[in-house]
Amino acid sequence: MQAMSEHVTCILCGSGAPEPLFSKPSACGEPFTLVRCRRCGMRFVSPRPEETEIGRYYESSYFTTRTDRGYNNYFSPDVRKEIERVIALNLGDLGFERFESDLGPGRRALDIGCAAGYFVNYLASRNWDAQGIDIAPECVRFASESLGLNVTHGNYLERHYQSKFNLITLWATIEHLHHPQRVLEKARDDLADGGRLYLSTCRAGDINFMQLFGSDWRYYNFPEHLYFFSYPALKNLLRRCGFEVTHYRTYGSGAGKPGSILRKVADFSAKKFYMGDMMLLSARAR
Ligand SMILES: [Zn+2]
Repeated sequence: MQAMSEHVTCILCGSGAPEPLFSKPSACGEPFTLVRCRRCGMRFVSPRPEETEIGRYYESSYFTTRTDRGYNNYFSPDVRKEIERVIALNLGDLGFERFESDLGPGRRALDIGCAAGYFVNYLASRNWDAQGIDIAPECVRFASESLGLNVTHGNYLERHYQSKFNLITLWATIEHLHHPQRVLEKARDDLADGGRLYLSTCRAGDINFMQLFGSDWRYYNFPEHLYFFSYPALKNLLRRCGFEVTHYRTYGSGAGKPGSILRKVADFSAKKFYMGDMMLLSARAR
């Protein structure tokens, strides 16, 4: 079944022969194995589909039919409202308004892995020259045709941009990428002086709500998610790619049902005590 798969060495330390942790089926039923680097502890999926094969895991069903791994209709008003609510919270945590108000007119932003373009839309409504890129054609079509946004279909690594950006965002995207390091290095080059990188991703390791769930953790969706960073691992990677972190927060617990008291208490604790299974950060060029 796994026609074109590749074994992966550790992105942080280059070590091969990682230790297998467990296997889990994809939405199509093919098993994928989560491994852990024996030297540095980094968790990732190996073997994995080659980059040229990954597109089929993001065909329209990823955004419209799955409820437990992709999205239950990503294009619905309810999902859009929820995404916009989380974006607003994230921006507050990252000191966005201050950053934005210090920028003059003509401020430019790029959202990598922009999905249906909700963040691009948010920025455009605040007078940003904002654009997005995504590998999922369905999403790009929705963003450009229904929302009229400047969103392109393709691989960021293959795109050349004429002008630099004041803000580059990777919302819940880096865990999907085959080459996080190359993407971060390119983002560093594509940022204007004083620019910011905003990034969110699921958080592994440390004291963390993820530990309650074992292999059932909500972000262990293979092979859509390929990398599971701890904060020290991500900070290390960012440093090597020329960034330093300016803001760091965690949020989310996955405990209880959405809307339940348990979820509310757990989410509150996750955020307050840096125990969240999502992390959020802002970085600038070193
Ligand atoms: Zn390693």
